[in-house]
Amino acid sequence: MSFFCSQCGECCTTLGLVHVIVKQIKEDEFLLQNEYTGEKKRVLVDPDKQDLFLDKSIFETYPDSCPFFRFRETEKKGYCTCHLTRPAICQDYDCWRILILDPAGIRVGRIMGWRHLCAEREDVSTIWKEHAHRLGSLSDEKWDISVVNLFQKHGYRIVR
Ligand code: SF4
Ligand code: SF4
Repeated sequence: MSFFCSQCGECCTTLGLVHVIVKQIKEDEFLLQNEYTGEKKRVLVDPDKQDLFLDKSIFETYPDSCPFFRFRETEKKGYCTCHLTRPAICQDYDCWRILILDPAGIRVGRIMGWRHLCAEREDVSTIWKEHAHRLGSLSDEKWDISVVNLFQKHGYRIVR
């Protein structure tokens, strides 16, 4: 399965350190600069997210959020308010290769990059600590299969 974003918002809550508004062109149009590469991108607030964009309360909780990130508490979901014109780095970003869900479909862990587990629950960490050291010598493909089998055996659902 191709990557899908669960809109947890984790990535965007620190990206204000990278994406900085350097100019407001119109009411809903901005010039965004990547502070690391110097690259500039013209972005527009999505037509259906104008009201959401005006709500700046996210910065009280996450002061380093991207200037276009917002969170809807009622849905527990994060939104990119310039999703349609967001920078290429955001369009290309995949935060996991293997997604681990509990039986109810709640995300409890992610395999990110090369063999790194980001566990979001203690039970997942415990399984990992007990078994991960045995997988070290496997080839990449066998390692992925073994990780999938390991978590499926413990009742988790896997998305790849
Ligand atoms: S890309 Fe990953 S970290 Fe970012 S919001 Fe989506 S699921 Fe969360
Ligand atoms: S532009 Fe959108 S996707 Fe990119 S960091 Fe900001 S809120 Fe997230």
